[in-house]
Amino acid sequence: MIHTLSKDALRMLWPLLLAALTSQLAENLWPAIAILLLCLAWQIWQKWRLARWLERGDLLNPPHASGLWEEYYTRLMHLFRFEQQAQKQLADIIERARNAANTLDEGIALLTLDYRLVYYNRAASELLGLVSVDKGETLTNLIRQPMLHEFFEQQEFAKPLLLNATWNERMLSLKVTPLIQEGYLLRIEDVTHVHKLEILQRDFVANVSHELKTPITVFKGSLELLEENPQAVTPSYHQLLKNMKQQSDRMENLVASLLLLARLEGQKIPLRAPFSVNELCRKMQTTFDARATQKGQTILWHIDPDLHLVGVKDEIESAFSNLLDNAIHYSPPNSPIDVYAYQSQQELCFAVQDRGEGIAPEHIPHLTERFYRVDKSRNRQSGGTGLGLAIVKYALQRNGGKLNIASQIGQGSRFSCTFPIASQPFQK
Ligand code: ADP
Repeated sequence: MIHTLSKDALRMLWPLLLAALTSQLAENLWPAIAILLLCLAWQIWQKWRLARWLERGDLLNPPHASGLWEEYYTRLMHLFRFEQQAQKQLADIIERARNAANTLDEGIALLTLDYRLVYYNRAASELLGLVSVDKGETLTNLIRQPMLHEFFEQQEFAKPLLLNATWNERMLSLKVTPLIQEGYLLRIEDVTHVHKLEILQRDFVANVSHELKTPITVFKGSLELLEENPQAVTPSYHQLLKNMKQQSDRMENLVASLLLLARLEGQKIPLRAPFSVNELCRKMQTTFDARATQKGQTILWHIDPDLHLVGVKDEIESAFSNLLDNAIHYSPPNSPIDVYAYQSQQELCFAVQDRGEGIAPEHIPHLTERFYRVDKSRNRQSGGTGLGLAIVKYALQRNGGKLNIASQIGQGSRFSCTFPIASQPFQK
């Protein structure tokens, strides 16, 4: 660097020395001025050549130059060559990434913050039926499905969206991940096969449960007949008979719950209708007060007047009843149970609070899974099916509601069902 600078200084010095010498010899300034003007003109000409060369864009072929200008040209040429190589490498990487993305079975698309399509791979094009002119368009404009619209509007991307693609008769799973560089990554998976298997499995369980109903009824009827005529059975078998009756009740409950669950999962939602929550609570009050009294418990009903919901009343009743059943079942005799129904600005809430054994936090996220029990051996003996909270979850989901569980070991649990007011077309 110092070497180049001293060379540059020397190059600039000799015209000055020449100008000074000629002026000295001629004893006037004109030769010096002429020499300096010549130098200036030469510099301007060099700059003009440089500008022309840059304009032409033929940057790998610089014009012939000498001295400082030759160095400028060589350095600029190196810089350009380096830039060209870096660009080529980048283009290579992008091309490779594109090719790799096109070999994937999973569809991938990049979306802007307002869900405009920036890029998609081959699988995404096939699954979503995208063509090149679709780039730049909003995804919800390209796929006009209310579910998709709602999904992007609510931005609840924690769970994938199951989309029925009517254009290619496929079932697609759409997962959205927000990107650090503003925008979203959309992953599209064809889950038609898995979905069909799920339907098959569900239908199978529903059919088996249905087929089991009759033999269980006959079996139970026979047991009841024997119970009513104890003299027909040797006394040593009485306990055995009692056990058989208990287990047949459990089987009956299990079959009924499996059938209800299959109905909630599989069937289209029947017509929703407005109904009075107060009336529903009054109906439940007669059934559950009696059941609680049997266990020495009291249910305290805190129901606000004039509460209405729009939904499938039977399904919502199953959800509320299961929560009350559990509260009675999992709290000790003589403990009070509180039932709340109220409405705030945003939602209608139905909650059941008990002062029972409570549930440890690690179990709470799993409680709505089928057959999940906190204490497996005990609950099985006590006659639970392990399906109650799964039924609650599906019944609420179908009616726009959500289940919240708060619990503390030794203190009790609160199960709340909330229904957003906005999703309720009918409000009194
Ligand atoms: P189950 O038929 O076993 O009651 P559920 O699906 O209704 O099945 O409940 C799942 C599990 O959640 C229960 O086995 C129990 O361990 C726990 N559970 C549900 N409700 C309560 C409650 N109110 N208090 C304590 N534990 C509860």
